Amino acid sequence: MSFVEDVRWFTAAPTADEPDGPTPQGRVTLVGAGPGDPELLTLRAVKALRGARLVLYDNLVGKEVLRYVPEDAELVYVGKESSRHTLPQESIIDLMVRLARSGRSLVRLKGGDGFIFGRGGEEAQALAEAGIAFDVVPGITAAQGAGACAGIPLTHRDHAATLVFATGHLRANNELSLDWEALARPRQTVVIYMGVGNLATICRELARHGLPTDTPAALVEQASLPSQRCITGTLQDLPQLAEQHAVRSPALIVLGQVVALQPQLMRGMQGLAA
Ligand code: SAH
Repeated sequence: MSFVEDVRWFTAAPTADEPDGPTPQGRVTLVGAGPGDPELLTLRAVKALRGARLVLYDNLVGKEVLRYVPEDAELVYVGKESSRHTLPQESIIDLMVRLARSGRSLVRLKGGDGFIFGRGGEEAQALAEAGIAFDVVPGITAAQGAGACAGIPLTHRDHAATLVFATGHLRANNELSLDWEALARPRQTVVIYMGVGNLATICRELARHGLPTDTPAALVEQASLPSQRCITGTLQDLPQLAEQHAVRSPALIVLGQVVALQPQLMRGMQGLAA
């Protein structure tokens, strides 16, 4: 595998040899890499990775997942907007369009499922608008990975009739534009992505909008990986627990009665040892 260390360099370089006549366009495969454990890749994702010549991948893609990419393929880290060698979303889209137009097929690899808080929707839309053909390969989203690997049955029917995925990420105006009343409804499980940095605000607003403060709550960090941690408490004490255990991204907030089943299920998953 050849890693392209600095994507700015890569951005400048991808023009294909001038062909005679029109260049056939490349195709883009949008692939969900799952929550981190490579065994949670779909067979279709593995097939796409094994056949890849060029892969643009994000920061949440597990390192082990990249082993499926052939030795001689190019791997380009386009990662997070805030870090140094990475590209803002519009430039990632531009780069994909340019590469496809120059005849190169590529895999666009994202953590979890690309269509769940992964901006895969914007990328697919931009490709469609640019007239570039693409495929979409689903991935196991972090919530499913966390549910299964940390022992939280997200819609156990005795406890939840609704499952909500929400984002705890601030919008440009620095506001959390969440429908707090909807999130505070009874008999549902709420999974919040990208919420750890705003945990105190999230818990406070949910309590203010009627979610009982003793609602079971969990933080699942690095779900599915050997480094996974699951910290459980209540809506009331979750922010304090997060601080105490120094919980870091990537982590999910899970709220609802189903979290109360976690210790029992975890015991089962660990072989019922005391
Ligand atoms: N498309 C991804 C989500 C991207 S948003 C998916 O479907 O899973 C990024 C957020 O996802 C992180 O801030 C975190 O909240 C969550 N996340 C991603 N991978 C995770 C993991 N292995 N464990 C816990 N949370 C994870």
